[in-house]
Amino acid sequence: MAATIIDGKEFAARVRAQVATHVTHLKAEHGITPGLAVVLVGEDPASQVYVRSKGKMTVEVGMKSVEHKLDVETPEAELLALIDQLNNDPEIHGILVQLPLPKHLNEDLVINSIDPAKDVDGFHISNVGLLGTGQKSMVPCTPLGCLMMLRDHHGSISGMNAVVIGRSNIVGKPMAQLLLNDSATVTIAHSRTKDLADVVRRADIVVAAVGRPEMVPGDWIKPGATVIDVGINRLDAPEKGEGKTKLVGDVHYDSCAAVAGAITPVPGGVGPMTIACLLANTVTACCRANGLAEPEGLTA
Ligand code: NDP
Repeated sequence: MAATIIDGKEFAARVRAQVATHVTHLKAEHGITPGLAVVLVGEDPASQVYVRSKGKMTVEVGMKSVEHKLDVETPEAELLALIDQLNNDPEIHGILVQLPLPKHLNEDLVINSIDPAKDVDGFHISNVGLLGTGQKSMVPCTPLGCLMMLRDHHGSISGMNAVVIGRSNIVGKPMAQLLLNDSATVTIAHSRTKDLADVVRRADIVVAAVGRPEMVPGDWIKPGATVIDVGINRLDAPEKGEGKTKLVGDVHYDSCAAVAGAITPVPGGVGPMTIACLLANTVTACCRANGLAEPEGLTA
């Protein structure tokens, strides 16, 4: 039987609609407009695209969007002073510093200077600790989006065998932690894992976050398993015309879809959920800052 395609585009639109409804409520009932500040240092083209689309979608759900574009050579002290200013701005509920930062800036120092309550990327060391101990935290957007799709598809993932391929601080580790918090039995695989194929074959849930185009073939997938493909890799696509490119994930879609029970496509799977979860985190942060009830189903 063909795998169910988990439509991240459609799911993300639902999440954004839920966020928009809550924003309308916050404005009408409490006179509060959630605000998200995005800080971009330098002119990395991919980062510029992300920041533009984050700003556009923030406005579309009715929130306030503030963008700070800083020169690539901005001194660290200047960036820290801006973050301090945003930390103390009552109209800003979420702060996101677009990564990667230019080499002269200490990424850990910068991220850890954000007020944890406004850290909508969930990368601050306090939020990592809170997530690791199962306490209320800000949860990294991409893994949160994956978790939402898994919960929606399975209801409960308790007791399922989950394999996360990749152990980055941004995706792999928080993903594994979220799966564990939902009582899955979790294995984290990485570049030193022995017999990765054998490890993946035991999984009811596979989350691939590797950054290697189409690395996971269909014959690694247990029949009926759910495959969440986090990878975004741009490849040349001469078959589409000269100079054309295409996006592929970290799993080989056609062969995996032939055996999986469910699978996320690339594009249109995890990608759209990431920005939707950023908006969800901002509205959650705003509610927490004001001692108000959080919207249901928008956090872990
Ligand atoms: P990183 O490069 O930080 O981490 C990659 C991980 O994959 C590492 O832990 C590495 O292991 C592991 N790995 C590399 N090669 C292998 C291998 N041959 N076998 C097993 N494991 C391997 O990447 P990210 O976590 O930041 O991103 C992963 C992917 O997700 C990328 O394609 C990225 O573009 C995409 N992404 C997508 C997002 C979205 O919104 N959809 C958001 C963020 C990322 P080791 O630690 O041993 O080196």
